[in-house]
Amino acid sequence: MTDGQTGAGQIPPGASEWAEVTDPAWNVKFDRREAGLSLIFSGQCPRCLHQTNFTVPRVRPDAAGGRQRPGPEVLTMYCECGYPHEGHPDRDNSCGAYWSYEAEL
Ligand SMILES: [Zn+2]
Ligand SMILES: [Zn+2]
Repeated sequence: MTDGQTGAGQIPPGASEWAEVTDPAWNVKFDRREAGLSLIFSGQCPRCLHQTNFTVPRVRPDAAGGRQRPGPEVLTMYCECGYPHEGHPDRDNSCGAYWSYEAEL
């Protein structure tokens, strides 16, 4: 037991507690990687600044009779940083942030 803790500044201010929030001003840039029938987006959560991955199933243009879907899709990403932010619900080890992301699927 210790008391009188001072200057422990490991967590960015305002991002330590779990909250289901989004902000259109977040400028999110993730790396896109193909992994079999999935796409893995990896990058930094704009809220808690932890590293996070987001996996989505790939859309195969040839699976629907050659119909191609031009242009990117908008998907909703969630923080999956794995860090147990304070106040997080059971089984949700993230900061709770979510955001829209435009990507080729
Ligand atoms: Zn986090
Ligand atoms: Zn986060």
